[in-house]
Amino acid sequence: TTSILWFRRDLRLSDHPALAAASDAADEVVGLFVLDTALTGHAGTRRLAFLFESLRDLREQLDGRLLVIRGRPHSSVPRVADAVGAQSVHVSQDFSPYGRRRDERVADALGDIPLVGTGSPYGVSPGQITKSDGSPYKVFTPYFRAWRERGWHSPAHTSAEMTDWVDPGAVPNVHPIEIPAAPEEPVIEPGERAGLRRWREFLDDAVSEYDTQRDRPDLDATSRMSVHLKFGTVHPRTMLADLAARRSDGAASYMRELAFRDFYADVLYNWPHSAWHNWNTGFDGISTDTDDAAWRRFDRWTSGTTGFPIVDAGMRQLTGEGFVHNRVRMIVASFLVKDLHLPWQWGARHFLDLLVDGDIASNQHGWQWTAGCGTDAAPYFRVFNPTSQGKKFDPSGEYVRRWVPELRPIAGAAVHDPGDERPADYPEPMVDHQVERREALDRYSRIS
Ligand code: FAD
Repeated sequence: TTSILWFRRDLRLSDHPALAAASDAADEVVGLFVLDTALTGHAGTRRLAFLFESLRDLREQLDGRLLVIRGRPHSSVPRVADAVGAQSVHVSQDFSPYGRRRDERVADALGDIPLVGTGSPYGVSPGQITKSDGSPYKVFTPYFRAWRERGWHSPAHTSAEMTDWVDPGAVPNVHPIEIPAAPEEPVIEPGERAGLRRWREFLDDAVSEYDTQRDRPDLDATSRMSVHLKFGTVHPRTMLADLAARRSDGAASYMRELAFRDFYADVLYNWPHSAWHNWNTGFDGISTDTDDAAWRRFDRWTSGTTGFPIVDAGMRQLTGEGFVHNRVRMIVASFLVKDLHLPWQWGARHFLDLLVDGDIASNQHGWQWTAGCGTDAAPYFRVFNPTSQGKKFDPSGEYVRRWVPELRPIAGAAVHDPGDERPADYPEPMVDHQVERREALDRYSRIS
């Protein structure tokens, strides 16, 4: 008997409940990946590079026994299932709006062959944690309390050796493709083996200070595991189990961030409209600028030439690496929404295009937190001052100098507010922050 394990955002072999289910269901398993043409069209080159190299790592771990095909899943998956006479197709559940629609179509097209979902990319899957009346949480802190109490399960012990993998060459009537060459060298090393290595290094070197240093973009104090979590090359439960064994403030603080990731996935699952619309529809009346001048302001934001050093550093890190430190994501997002008065969706789209960890749930709700229209949103009247944020969180100015070469001649924290020292090739601030702050508050007050 044969089953199929259709890999998606779970490009690993350890802690993989769907792998356990697929190998329990049949004597042999076909490992399948479908390069979904609906998704690859939108992914930036860096995200594709990470995906392709992670697939290569998976195939290597399986001694080549991974079938990779290109196409739309609702036609490709049933074709492979027919070709091998599969009795079931196994997946890790995908709770994103696109993933849910895709899986419904695939399940329909498979007819009598069941599409079995086991596990998900989350510590606790969306929909699992509800209030006592069954309704979803709208605020993180009580969600977190329940998440900790009802909690995540122990990791599943799985490996390549637990099953017989079918050689892709033995599957009739399908056209395997070569995994495309990575369009560029990935900044964060891809694949399960590199992800686990990175995680262990972070546990040994930095997790104990995570609670005190996580807000510092000038230090290498965060894990950069978001990309591995996005592609499922490492499962969060593997990480949670390691953290639970540490019992430090740093480990506890990191655990809370993983719960945040679960929470945002839960919010999107319960309110799918929040992918592109205000979660809090009370904010729908806010006026944003969308005329030609607004687009010109947007271009200065994307190109990192706003004249605000920490904002420009963040936007250049985004272009340069496809990654931005969390604190800086908040600062540049606040600048777009509250200093430039542009729709948060413009910024969110741009982030999704460029971030290697670009994730619809974390990104859209991170943006809405900043804009004030999300679940646990920052109060709308809290407007980040980019200059004082820079001085506070990049106290030596090193982060700015790393990403904005024009400002390298300026030493120390003065780089955040160059004044008379501003080099001729670095722009003047494109707006007066105090004026735009009042304008933002004024716009918010008109809807409240
Ligand atoms: P660490 O500090 O090491 O955190 C550990 C893990 O916890 C992260 O890998 C991530 O999975 C999770 N995490 C941490 N902070 C958050 C958070 N605020 N929300 C949800 N999960 C969190 N994260 C993404 O994974 N994809 C995105 O597209 C994304 N877009 C964002 C957009 C904005 C405007 C903001 C403010 C935040 C966004 N985040 C996003 C959340 C956060 O910035 C990143 O997860 C984090 O910077 C990744 O770096 P790290 O792995 O070194 O984080």
